[in-house]
Amino acid sequence: MQVDFSMENIRRCLCLECPVQRESRCVRDKKKIMLLITQQDLDSAMRMDTDRVPGVYCSTGRAICRDIDPHEECLCSGCEVWKEHILSESDVSDYFCIKKISR
Ligand code: SF4
Ligand code: SF4
Repeated sequence: MQVDFSMENIRRCLCLECPVQRESRCVRDKKKIMLLITQQDLDSAMRMDTDRVPGVYCSTGRAICRDIDPHEECLCSGCEVWKEHILSESDVSDYFCIKKISR
């Protein structure tokens, strides 16, 4: 099932808290910008484009930041988006930020 890149899924995504991204300076910087956009609100849904959000990789299929650590544990299986879309049954079911997914 295709995952939408939506504000609802951005909010539910666990990637921002994931150990794989924890030490990434690039992710930290993007989180700050996301926070600013959310605080200013206005059109946050429109301004959260795929290049700004270091998450929902099950939808976008790629990590923006390169300084992530693939040796840490993926949190996807605990995510509501993952359960709702039955991603356990897809060809790729974890580490969407690293593995290549076909869309
Ligand atoms: S399944 Fe993984 S990549 Fe997709 S929204 Fe959840 S935590 Fe993020
Ligand atoms: S896809 Fe999985 S491993 Fe990658 S950042 Fe999201 S939760 Fe972590």
